[in-house]
Amino acid sequence: MSIPALRQLSPAAVIMMVSLVAICAAYPAWGIFMQADMNPASLLNWSDVSWQIAEVDSRGRLVRLGAHPFALALLVGVITVACGSFAWAAWQVLAGRFRTKNRDDDLPERLEKVGQELDDEMFSVMRLLKQHLDLSGSHSEALSKVSDSLFSSTSPERIRSIIQFLISENKKVQNEVTELNTRLQHSQQQIEKLRISLSDSHRLGMLDAVTSLKNRHWIEVHLPKEVQAAAEANEPLSLIMADVDHFKRINDTFGHAVGDEILRRFAELLSKNIKGRDTAARFGGEEFVVVLPQTRVEGARNLGEQLRSELESKKWMHHKTGQPIGKVTASFGIVELRRGEDCDDLLDRVDAKLYEAKAQGRNRVVVDT
Ligand code: GH3
Ligand code: MG
Ligand code: MG
Repeated sequence: MSIPALRQLSPAAVIMMVSLVAICAAYPAWGIFMQADMNPASLLNWSDVSWQIAEVDSRGRLVRLGAHPFALALLVGVITVACGSFAWAAWQVLAGRFRTKNRDDDLPERLEKVGQELDDEMFSVMRLLKQHLDLSGSHSEALSKVSDSLFSSTSPERIRSIIQFLISENKKVQNEVTELNTRLQHSQQQIEKLRISLSDSHRLGMLDAVTSLKNRHWIEVHLPKEVQAAAEANEPLSLIMADVDHFKRINDTFGHAVGDEILRRFAELLSKNIKGRDTAARFGGEEFVVVLPQTRVEGARNLGEQLRSELESKKWMHHKTGQPIGKVTASFGIVELRRGEDCDDLLDRVDAKLYEAKAQGRNRVVVDT
């Protein structure tokens, strides 16, 4: 197992492994260090009395336990600690705590850490630039003083020393610029790495774990932007809200895993049927939203109908047992953005249309015209 993989394990799992190794190693180690016979049966018959754990008489009866206090304490100590931590770790395992960390679990922490590192790196770049500006200020001051005296002096000696000074100042500046370049290059690489890590974390935070579509958070962040952009550009924008019909019944009859699989397939169906700037997102549960910029309501209606009939015509089977699941259908609400309407009102309106589709008997598309 690699070190990064080890780091993913819970402390209980690591302690459990260490304890196991300690228990396995303790006995042979004891035998080697004490130069004793490593056969477990010979424990009671050690010839070296000073390290004897148990002293027996000629008839094999126990005379006394722990002939050497240190030896006994050492052995009992190691075994107690190892067994204790093994028992504790085993309890943790049985309590279901042995699990690798989900990548999404610590997302806020990761974001905060990367943000902090980025902050630190930016701070050090700013400090570097300030240092450089201060230094180049003092160089120009020194140079202007020297150039004044260069024009007023006539002695070759003096001129030579001024030139030497200029050469050495020039070298200093060159060295500083080279060092600054190296440090800035390093910072640039660090910042680029952190930027990628940050955008990766943001991306993960906007994706739904079951369907890999954009999630509710994405809708909350991006839909208002799309609405604003459409309003400013005076372009149409339509919204579809879809909800799988009687999904609870599917879950209850065939199990949650089948329910999840249907959600994934429905998400694939949505992704397959959209293009360009369109985005499909999981709004929550078995509810999905499709954002259609530059699309009039008629275009959205066609897409809704297409999605509805494709889903209805699919033949579903239990992926493990082959048991037929029957038809899966969904209801759709569709609206087009109105002038001056905000994101919340748009969502309320599409939700109301979806509700109408359910009330009218499900497996249908209701459009706000
Ligand atoms: P309707 O036709 O009126 O929409 O009825 P419905 O049964 O689809 O709706 P309802 O709101 O009664 O039930 C939705 C169910 O969706 C309940 C919930 O357990 C299930 N659900 C929500 N999220 C998930 C998920 O991620 N996976 C699975 N398998 N089920 C989910
Ligand atoms: Mg439903
Ligand atoms: Mg629902």
